[in-house]
Amino acid sequence: MSDRKVLSEWVMQPGTGKAVELLAGQILRIEQVEGLQCVDFNCFNLHDYKEFMHCGRTRTVHGFNPSKGAFMWSAPPRERALLYILDDTYGRNDVLFPRCSAYVYESAYGFDAHTNCHDIQAEAQREYGLTPDDVHDSFNLFMCTEVTLDGRATITRQETKPGDHVDLLALVDVLAIPNVCGADVMRTSNFSLKPIKLTVFEATDADMTCVPKVPVLKSQRTPKDFRNPTIKPDRALTRDPSYVAQFTNVPIVVEELSVTLSEEEAATLDRVRLPVYGADDGAALRDVLFTWWEQRFLGAAESGAPDIGGKT
Ligand SMILES: [Zn+2]
Repeated sequence: MSDRKVLSEWVMQPGTGKAVELLAGQILRIEQVEGLQCVDFNCFNLHDYKEFMHCGRTRTVHGFNPSKGAFMWSAPPRERALLYILDDTYGRNDVLFPRCSAYVYESAYGFDAHTNCHDIQAEAQREYGLTPDDVHDSFNLFMCTEVTLDGRATITRQETKPGDHVDLLALVDVLAIPNVCGADVMRTSNFSLKPIKLTVFEATDADMTCVPKVPVLKSQRTPKDFRNPTIKPDRALTRDPSYVAQFTNVPIVVEELSVTLSEEEAATLDRVRLPVYGADDGAALRDVLFTWWEQRFLGAAESGAPDIGGKT
């Protein structure tokens, strides 16, 4: 959108990354200069680095290749949408592969000195006081990956062109850290390293209205809800002699519930009950509900849930 105000611009050269303060309502555009370049990406809550982008939750909600319309989520128990992918002109990104590392290049290729995403991320994050241990699982932009039938992830050739870009809209204040992926011996960036352009924009009202509403739920917890809100300043793990277990939801209480099913729902239940669960109606019903939830979660189902008497 041409009416966006540009706040800052950089070009990241191969072998480098950039920590960018991205406030809520600002957009980070990550853009190909020559094309064919993969970008690794980390993202932390700017005011609490212990909350960061969680690839596991993100791929559960949006699949292995999140693109336009996906959120970047933080880990439990906070589970907040940190960023929204407002635009993605190429449409291929990855949350399957970890960042490449010095170990990878030495063990697989025999290079004991090689550009790699972990070391680049660590150096870029050091500007904000973070350590190499704080680098988290990477969101890999423009990286083309597939999963084979035997369950292995593979990298395929990417074909981005100059100007292809991903626009990330911050929903909370974050530290966003993209880096030029250091892999020049893989298909990731087609065997050479190229620069990447970064632009920070102020989002327009039209940008903000594109973002679907994300509910704030009771189960999303913050450090004020933690029984141990203190971040360890030392590295060794020692037992707290005053520790008394207080597990959430324990003791577990099981209640019998009555369930009302339509004829169609009862037929669905019959289809899974006998071949899989035998006489266990409760397990079969939970299977049906799980299937419904899974379809709804993945956006595949239009229909509502079976009517369940009592609370769920
Ligand atoms: Zn890399």
